Amino acid sequence: MQLNRILNFNAGPAALPLIVLEEIRDSFLDFKGSGMSITEVSHRSKWFDDVINDAIERTKRLLQLDDKFKVLFIQGGASMQFAMMPMNFLHNGKTADYVNTGTWSTKAIKEAEIQGKNFNVVASSEDSNFSYIPKNINFNKDAVYAHITSNNTIKGTQWASFPDTGGVPMIADMSSDIMCRPLDMDKFGMIYAGAQKNIGPAGICMVIIRDDMLGQVPDTLPSMLKYTTYASKNSMYNTPPCFAVYTVQLVMKWLEETIGGLDKMAELNDEKAGLLYDFIDSSDFYNGTAATDSRSLMNVTFRLPSEDLEKKFVGDAMENKLGGLKGHRSVGGCRASIYNAATKEGVATLVDFMKTFEKENG
Ligand SMILES: *Cc1c(COP(=O)(O)O)cnc(C)c1O
Repeated sequence: MQLNRILNFNAGPAALPLIVLEEIRDSFLDFKGSGMSITEVSHRSKWFDDVINDAIERTKRLLQLDDKFKVLFIQGGASMQFAMMPMNFLHNGKTADYVNTGTWSTKAIKEAEIQGKNFNVVASSEDSNFSYIPKNINFNKDAVYAHITSNNTIKGTQWASFPDTGGVPMIADMSSDIMCRPLDMDKFGMIYAGAQKNIGPAGICMVIIRDDMLGQVPDTLPSMLKYTTYASKNSMYNTPPCFAVYTVQLVMKWLEETIGGLDKMAELNDEKAGLLYDFIDSSDFYNGTAATDSRSLMNVTFRLPSEDLEKKFVGDAMENKLGGLKGHRSVGGCRASIYNAATKEGVATLVDFMKTFEKENG
């Protein structure tokens, strides 16, 4: 069968490693000799138990998590977490800190506000259209958590290192950069990530939560909206999205066995982003939109001299089988999302195309 795949720079859902897709294809009709597809086996079967437990074990090894942390799978995307966080941790007048670094942070804050919870926005980069990551932030000692968005998918910024919260557990929305580099998990009470950018298909959110945070969850919440339900039932209180969990398992296997772990992944991501940023910096035709010290390794945002040229750029790129380069509808411009699954060769091909486009249109 002739495949006609493009180089996919979509922001999300985004490219998956080809060998993961091939493994899914090859085992799709008969999963591990079950005579059934992974989409047909019972979630109470040994087949699926092995899948979810392997996904969890690999995640723990990759992030070097100790037993204080539980790995959960919850539906509803990262957006559901925006609502669950305040619901689970901000009861009896307790308060949280939020750092506002863009669209997704703003949406997280909105969900605490809707529920009438106490919170403080302790820093924001809204004054400069969210083009940088704030520094020297003072966090409140009495906050139950301090929420940040580790990578701002739309604005193309990322925390290069994490802030000192003075002991307040940090919660991070890592939807668009989880597993892009090793993490010092000591700082985090919880991290969460909608899978569809860096670790799988849409339909599932990975939540990694520490015991002491679980201990704060009130019993009175609806079962499906409290972290303790997922923790006590290995994320199988009800039917989980089995296919999504399976894909996440295969991506974790790829990270461990093909890439060789998160140090190696970080090295590759530095190289890929370096290729693009170095070229953008060398050109007067392309202009990066994020402050240099806040640039994302995952989402490279840039502008061309005019909106007409940007439109032509995206169109011409597609004709050359380079897809997904249009910026988010809320900000315009162009964006190349180069998540873990993007190859160095793919990024080099993009840079070559950008050079040619500049020659012909600059
Ligand atoms: C895409 C994205 C979200 C939204 O994720 P859903 O799974 O669609 O709810 C939230 N936060 C960040 C950082 C994202 O990139």
